[in-house]
Amino acid sequence: MCAWCCPKEKCPNNSSLNEGDKCPTCGLKAKEFGFFELKLLNEAKKNKSQESPNEPKGENKILAIFGDDGKELPSMKKVTNNLLKAIFEQNKIIIQQNKVIQKLLKKK
Ligand SMILES: [Zn+2]
Repeated sequence: MCAWCCPKEKCPNNSSLNEGDKCPTCGLKAKEFGFFELKLLNEAKKNKSQESPNEPKGENKILAIFGDDGKELPSMKKVTNNLLKAIFEQNKIIIQQNKVIQKLLKKK
């Protein structure tokens, strides 16, 4: 999987662009990145553009909850919100698991 993306680490824009495009945020020409390169770039962008209002996604969100990157902890309200969201997601998985177990028990 490859993607064209803004190569500037300090630029918060990490949306995928097309070949020959210029970054709408900083105007730099898009570069082609492989899957892992892109992951590293996005990681760098995330760390270097703390002022960006973009919410971290997926595993980064979990890291953000616990301030794992050694930076100042997010506000208590944000932590609480994120924890509630995480618990809610986990409950959905448990409900799903229970449904599967019930189905298996009915078969016997
Ligand atoms: Zn850019």
